[in-house]
Amino acid sequence: MEISVHLLDASKKHAKPSDEKNLVFGRVFTDHMFLVDFKGQNGWQDARIVPYGPLELDPAAMVLHYGQGIFEGLKAYRRANGEIWLFRPRQNCERLNRSAKRMCMPEIDVSLQLRAIEKLIAIDKDWVPHSLGSSLYIRPTMIATEPHIGVRPSAEYMYYVITGPVAAYYAEGFNPVKIYVDEQYVRTVRGGPGDAKTMANYASSLFAAELAKEKGYTQVLWLDGVERRYVDEVGTSNIFFRIGDELVTPPLQGSILPGITRDSVIQLARHRGIKVSERRITIEEVIEKAGSGELKEMFASGTAAVISPVGEICYRDKISRIGDGGVGEWALKLYDEILGIQYGEREDIFGWTRRLDV
Ligand SMILES: *Cc1c(COP(=O)(O)O)cnc(C)c1O
Repeated sequence: MEISVHLLDASKKHAKPSDEKNLVFGRVFTDHMFLVDFKGQNGWQDARIVPYGPLELDPAAMVLHYGQGIFEGLKAYRRANGEIWLFRPRQNCERLNRSAKRMCMPEIDVSLQLRAIEKLIAIDKDWVPHSLGSSLYIRPTMIATEPHIGVRPSAEYMYYVITGPVAAYYAEGFNPVKIYVDEQYVRTVRGGPGDAKTMANYASSLFAAELAKEKGYTQVLWLDGVERRYVDEVGTSNIFFRIGDELVTPPLQGSILPGITRDSVIQLARHRGIKVSERRITIEEVIEKAGSGELKEMFASGTAAVISPVGEICYRDKISRIGDGGVGEWALKLYDEILGIQYGEREDIFGWTRRLDV
């Protein structure tokens, strides 16, 4: 499929943020976006890059009523030599298709998704920030657009990609987060759409997240929806525990989003000779081992922050410190290693990075 390009008038181009360090995540977008429409039997058509701007959507568009919508999140990194690279982008495109399948939405060729992302970034390449740690955040999205009231899968969809520059996550150094273990609300249940990056999962997580914030916590630790004992995830990130000299993370059993950073952490740790167990872990075990000192580190993983160390957790009104409450050795090592691969400062032994032809 050809991607047509309609550029923004040079006179209308937006000023790029002058201060890369103070970019607020998710607020600034580049001059262009990619769109492609799905029309029933005719499939995907009219792939185009156009000036960034509001979408025209019928008020009866099914995404607005029944939430048939999915998204992805990845980044483009500018290296010291000026080149722009992506990190495991094919994984995001394949995951989008798995999410699509789960939500009864049409899949979209991985090669078209990749071309869309790469062509869009090539056009807006000047928006990719320069300072180490900063990046261009990429948000592929698919929504149900058919105007129809009545619950069934939509016959029409739109896939689009928007991008925006984001600051280094840890501009002021690694900051361990405080997390709140919620026993009342769950993110999803096994059998639910927890392993799909679908909009509904985030809408339903807001209430508990706000309660945790009111109590002074940054994130919610989600327990499994059936027994409310087993740890699933933290906020919108996957979770790792260093118990003794073993790395433990909950297995992908349907209620956990299969993070690409999670997979990268597992592969890198194993490559370094660390024993990694994907096994279920109860909150009681976490609290007990935090108390005994066996739980040396706890950290979350995700594209936005890469690694987010957890300094303390609150469970049933009791606060447990993790390790010394600071940044653990393994968290720091894995963070440095992944960031190093993304910015080309470390050897990419797994072939994870992909250079943009711009
Ligand atoms: C996106 C996401 C993650 C992290 O996935 P990455 O591919 O590592 O960015 C983890 N959990 C949830 C719920 C997510 O939405």
